[in-house]
Amino acid sequence: MNPEELVKATPTLEEIQNFEGKYPRQLWLLFLSEMWERFSFYGMRGMLTIFMVEQLRLSEKDANLKYGAIQAFIYTMAFIGGLFADKILGFRKSIFWGGLLMIVGSFMLAFSPKDLYYIGICFTIVGTGFFKPNISTMVGSLYKTGDPRRDAGFGLFYSGINIGALLGGALCIWAADAYSWNVAFSLAGIGMIIGLGIFVFTRKTIGPIGLSPLLNKVSDAKKRSYEWMVYAGSLLIIPFILLLIRKSEYSDMFMYIVGPAALLYIIYEMFKFNKLERRKLVAALIFIVFSIAFWAFFEQAGGSLSLFARYNLKHDVLGIPMNPNSINNGANSLFVIIFSPIIGILWLWLYKRKMEPNTVIKFGLGFLFLAAAFYVFYYTRFFADANGMTSLNVFTLAYLVITFGELCLSPIGLSLMTKLAPARMHGMMMGMWFLASAYGQYAAGILGAGMATVNEKASLSEKLLSYTDGYKQLAIYALVLGIVLIIISPLIRKLMHEVH
Ligand code: GLN
Repeated sequence: MNPEELVKATPTLEEIQNFEGKYPRQLWLLFLSEMWERFSFYGMRGMLTIFMVEQLRLSEKDANLKYGAIQAFIYTMAFIGGLFADKILGFRKSIFWGGLLMIVGSFMLAFSPKDLYYIGICFTIVGTGFFKPNISTMVGSLYKTGDPRRDAGFGLFYSGINIGALLGGALCIWAADAYSWNVAFSLAGIGMIIGLGIFVFTRKTIGPIGLSPLLNKVSDAKKRSYEWMVYAGSLLIIPFILLLIRKSEYSDMFMYIVGPAALLYIIYEMFKFNKLERRKLVAALIFIVFSIAFWAFFEQAGGSLSLFARYNLKHDVLGIPMNPNSINNGANSLFVIIFSPIIGILWLWLYKRKMEPNTVIKFGLGFLFLAAAFYVFYYTRFFADANGMTSLNVFTLAYLVITFGELCLSPIGLSLMTKLAPARMHGMMMGMWFLASAYGQYAAGILGAGMATVNEKASLSEKLLSYTDGYKQLAIYALVLGIVLIIISPLIRKLMHEVH
């Protein structure tokens, strides 16, 4: 079926957006598709650093740096993936292409993990860039402007992300230990096949959503040639990314250039819109800038907090034996799964009573929870024994608190991008939202390295003091950012106009 026939056989946009009940039914399919994509993504993520240390024999420092670069590239590619979806491919083809590249990348790793490691990773980097921002944008397309159910929809979608993250993160690394790296990387590939399979099915239910922006604007032949150019371009970029990952000093340079360049490009695009639309885009950019700081603190999870968990925490939660790193890697996802639907319902409940905090305040709350969580991480030092080993209970509590912060900011941020950007810029702005994560990841590494500057032979107690000092600093910065956001909220709300 060609795209137009497909659309005729499926519901209209009106029918989709006029759904009854809490969630549009298409959301469940996007939820499942993204859940499996995140299964694959977090499965891979959980293996990367360990594989580099144990199999590729990199030093821990180099492995950490490369891990940071890979994460940063993944989220940077999201900007490019969003941009090309807006301009040429549309969301459907972008997601399909991205999923395909992720599958190829995972199976390269499954086939020959050592030899094809870097090239396989590059395929997944480009693939995620095309998949991740665009599936998130599609969730927004299921809602009419001003529909109060949108944030709850993104909350549910966010639960799917974390179910996938929890399962993939736990299963893949387990398979690597129990069977082999080949099996473990295959699992990531299989997860992605399932995700893409569900997406193909989803396409039949989403009417005109996500079709190419060029449809009916240029001839079919021209459209096709543009599409092929994007496909070819995204393959040609792979050797370039390969080079950047192999040489960390190039990654730094890349990070210095790409963010400002993306920002300048957005500013250039902004002039194509009227004043009202421009002001909303400025508001979106303010949220994006704040989110860089949020992720820079939050992502200590993959760096300094994982080392803190490995060396300074006791091995039990409420008397039950537990590996502190399992808590570090899994507690956040588990808490998101439990609390995301509850918070979604809470926002709707407050909305009905005209008491729902507006988005800027929710963002501010996100930072206040972040501050409280880092204060709790700091507070672990008061539970330490003479050997510098402290309570895993208190550490777990900090993860509970940080999760509330994440839920006030991350799903809301996704939702916001789809509210504040004009439709023609949805993909790009969603990409920009993820580009902020790239910078957050990058800054997280620098912050973590700064906290770790105690000498190699430091005792566990000294390490504890050094890390927890750092966490106290982060708590103070997060508190200040939260307060600033709340104070300037009337200003940002003015820019947002009717969006709240
Ligand atoms: N954990 C979320 C996800 O994987 C958010 C990631 C981010 O934006 N940094 O989608």
